[in-house]
Amino acid sequence: MEPSAAQSTAATHARLRRERATIAAMYRIYCRQEHGVDATLCADCQRDLDYCLRRIDKCPYGENKPTCKNCVTHCYSPLMQQRVRAVMRRAGPQMLRHHPLLALLHLLWDARKKPGRPASESGKAPAGRLPKSAS
Ligand SMILES: [Zn+2]
Repeated sequence: MEPSAAQSTAATHARLRRERATIAAMYRIYCRQEHGVDATLCADCQRDLDYCLRRIDKCPYGENKPTCKNCVTHCYSPLMQQRVRAVMRRAGPQMLRHHPLLALLHLLWDARKKPGRPASESGKAPAGRLPKSAS
């Protein structure tokens, strides 16, 4: 499927819904432990989560979206990459206990082969050096 075609269904595809649920669950764990906010999110975490969900919606890989760790197209701003990494480091290991199914599916998807790089980028280029695509 062409990325442009996948994009229109990105928000409704089952796997992407699960990805949205996974990141939301991680933010709830993180915010409860780091900020002491229960059942909901503090304003900062809510804003960051909204950012993540928007990036998922706009992911050019659509339903074939790799886990962000494996992705060669870094669509997060450098600041948000740092912030999300902190959330995942903190909440990731606890996902197995709180949300075993989501965590397991995420790990399985994580182990999958990475999507191909664009032709210009094939070869031995180090990861994470793709120019940002205009969006
Ligand atoms: Zn918070």
